[in-house]
Amino acid sequence: MTYPTQPTASHFINGAYVEDTSGTPIEVIYPATGETIATVHAATPALIEQAITSAGRAQAVWAAMTGTERGRVLRRAADMMRERNHELSVLETYDTGKPYQETSVADATSGADALEYFGGMAATLTGEHIQLGEDWVYTRREPLGLCVGIGAWNYPTQIACWKGAPALACGNAMIFKPSETTPLCALKVAEILHEAGLPAGAYNVVQGLGDVGAALVTDPRIDKVSLTGSVPTGRKVYAAAAEGIKHVTMELGGKSPLIIFEDADLENAISGAILGNFYSSGQVCSNGTRVFVHRAIKQAFLDRLAARLDSAVIGDPMRPETSFGPMVSERQMNIVLDYIAKGKAEGARLVCGGCRLDRDGFYIQPTVFADVTDDMVIAREEIFGPVMAVLDFDDETEVLARANATEFGLAAGVFTRDLTRAHRIAAGFEAGTCYINTYNDAPVEAPFGGAKSSGVGRENSKAAIAHYSQLKSVYVRMGDLEAPF
Ligand code: NAD
Repeated sequence: MTYPTQPTASHFINGAYVEDTSGTPIEVIYPATGETIATVHAATPALIEQAITSAGRAQAVWAAMTGTERGRVLRRAADMMRERNHELSVLETYDTGKPYQETSVADATSGADALEYFGGMAATLTGEHIQLGEDWVYTRREPLGLCVGIGAWNYPTQIACWKGAPALACGNAMIFKPSETTPLCALKVAEILHEAGLPAGAYNVVQGLGDVGAALVTDPRIDKVSLTGSVPTGRKVYAAAAEGIKHVTMELGGKSPLIIFEDADLENAISGAILGNFYSSGQVCSNGTRVFVHRAIKQAFLDRLAARLDSAVIGDPMRPETSFGPMVSERQMNIVLDYIAKGKAEGARLVCGGCRLDRDGFYIQPTVFADVTDDMVIAREEIFGPVMAVLDFDDETEVLARANATEFGLAAGVFTRDLTRAHRIAAGFEAGTCYINTYNDAPVEAPFGGAKSSGVGRENSKAAIAHYSQLKSVYVRMGDLEAPF
């Protein structure tokens, strides 16, 4: 199968597509059919070396430009991404299986938002002047140098931009390794950035599995590592980066709580639960997969949820009316089916879904379990698929303690009409991102990241600048200098 947007080679290094077929082949599979749509090759050590040396050369050129000049390139790239939104969305759909209905409004568009936002900020990045009597100190906000970005498979375009945009705005160069499951989209990001005027080599894309990621992370020339992935991978990458005392951003997994009180607007709460469990077929890190529903509204919630799930349009992701697509891979589908089997075996009550669809591709029905208890595996482990666990509760203090009783802390949500309770709960949540009467918004203007095992650092917003730059303090003495001898 061919489609118009397919990149022309496996890697993008020093401003151009590069192929080396001696690297291990990685098949790219369209999740909606199971067909192989492309084959890329893992980067060889020689290609990794090329990527790092070209990034080093480019970084010196890029950092020497003014912030205004750097910002102009990023903003031009943002405009190009928006102009090419259709072709980029088609590619995102082929890479991930997510419906075009989603990709056309959530992927290249949010990548473009990041490029525009950090492009606009590039010229405003300054140090400060600190007067000390007649002497003074000034600070310089300097780039870290060479940054490695490592992506997960659920949002390949967005992740490539969320890491690349702030890194480049600060004057760094980036080497990005996409997930081996979705290798195509980041190549387009690199192509567009260079077409927009980025110096050759300032944003390179190399393909590969964990070993290629590990080779990048451990290279002594790399100053910073930003990973989006699971907690177990995060532990390994964080430890490897620590050996070299490198800066890190860790965007990891979650098992986030969503609390629905008896006074909530039921339709809105169900919309939140749907967005927080079934968007992208449930493959969203911040999903609110532990849905605590007050016992007084439990039955009404479950009845109405089941009715609304009935209207999901499941099928060909390229059809505009499709609102629910396949899992990203056969492997991920099997992981999720295993969790569904565990939920049944543990005695959770299957309200709807629970099966693979009888068609090509890796489709699982939107699945809801009720009567889930805190100790069940499906309530404790990240499933990363369309499986909602509904748990009952009676009391605010009790539910907040249960919501926080997890090693994860990525996100958390609450639906209630009680204003003070909403803010009390948000203050009590142990999570990096909280939602009141909404779920899973992620605008570039707001910090995004995890508490506890869900991560370190923040992406997006002004906060990201601190994670891609460092301050140098310069002391200036105006008079004579005294010394003890
Ligand atoms: P994963 O941890 O399996 O892989 C993530 C990336 O790390 C891949 O590119 C992989 O090749 C690479 N990798 C694996 N081992 C490595 C090593 N030793 N050194 C360097 N790189 C290595 O995750 P996944 O299955 O691709 O994605 C799903 C996970 O990502 C879920 O846990 C999800 O919650 C998380 N996620 C988090 C966020 C967030 O922003 N917090 C966003 C999306 C996904």
